[in-house]
Amino acid sequence: MAQLPPDVEEDECLPEYRYLFCPDLLQDKVAFITGGGSGIGFRIAEIFMRHGCHTVIASRSLLRVSMAAKKLIAATGRQCLPLSMDVRAPPAIMAAVDQALKEFGKIDILINGAAGNFLCPASALSFNAFKTVVDIDTIGTFNVSRVLYEKFFRVGVLSARISSLPAADLPPHPPVLQDHGGVIVNITATLNLRGQVLQVHAGSAKAAVDAMTRHLAVEWGPQNIRINSLAPGPISGTEGLRRLGGSPARVSTKALVSPLQRLGNKTEIAHSVLYLASPLASFVTGTMLVVDGGAWLTSPNDTKQLADFESSSAKL
Ligand code: NAP
Repeated sequence: MAQLPPDVEEDECLPEYRYLFCPDLLQDKVAFITGGGSGIGFRIAEIFMRHGCHTVIASRSLLRVSMAAKKLIAATGRQCLPLSMDVRAPPAIMAAVDQALKEFGKIDILINGAAGNFLCPASALSFNAFKTVVDIDTIGTFNVSRVLYEKFFRVGVLSARISSLPAADLPPHPPVLQDHGGVIVNITATLNLRGQVLQVHAGSAKAAVDAMTRHLAVEWGPQNIRINSLAPGPISGTEGLRRLGGSPARVSTKALVSPLQRLGNKTEIAHSVLYLASPLASFVTGTMLVVDGGAWLTSPNDTKQLADFESSSAKL
């Protein structure tokens, strides 16, 4: 059996790392990662930086992203700009993207990882709780994608062929414009594939993001923008699993009935995101890549959980 890539439970960088991809796979690229201060987003930032990328990590808590940036820079030697931004607030996103462009001059990759979730039966879910999750996961993903499209991905540049000529040698016809282009990876989930119990809010929100992935891939493909979704299964060392997985005994029972009989780890998710964001996936767009060890095919979807469920988060 192949050796599992290493991971650590906390939001800390890996003490050691063995390259599976070429170390300069993202050399001097710049990635903007929402939710990059914790969990899966933090590990994506680290793995990207280990492959030569500079990052911008953005979430609501400046303290969280600033602490994360310090660790990421120390472990990888690449640059990381921490920014405070709520994905629900377009003016804040515009300001953050402006700041990132001022710092790096470009953004090549967008990872939409910011999300919120909790367990709650539909019958107990307040209108506002449902709306809050859709606002962050779905509308937030659209907001950030739309701002980056507007401010950088679709903005034309003079083609290198013409701009590298001396002015006197420029041909008489207008200069050729090219879109910068870009890559977007939306982090979604498998919840909606089977209608997971207690998850109507997050399942609906992520399903809409998967639909958005296909719409934007079609509309923005001609501008050299690739957009894909990546749907993780249950991942160890994350807030998601702590909130949604239940007791450790329950988590390991569920993991054991999945085809690979274990949880995934954050490094495994980051490697799959790295693949989608890199030139290895240059002809891949509009898809959803499920990275869950096959869990959604076999994991229990137990409506008995409805009976004994109590949610404090339903009163958002
Ligand atoms: P996490 O650590 O809680 O990550 C969520 C991040 O989103 C946090 O850094 C949070 O930072 C940020 N965020 C939340 N609301 C925001 C807002 N309004 N504006 C900007 N940033 C916001 O959770 P995770 O478990 O690693 O999940 C990461 C992604 O993977 C999510 O999209 C999740 O749905 C997906 N996923 C996770 C699992 C899993 O097993 N963990 C499974 C399937 C899918 P602030 O609080 O500072 O804003």
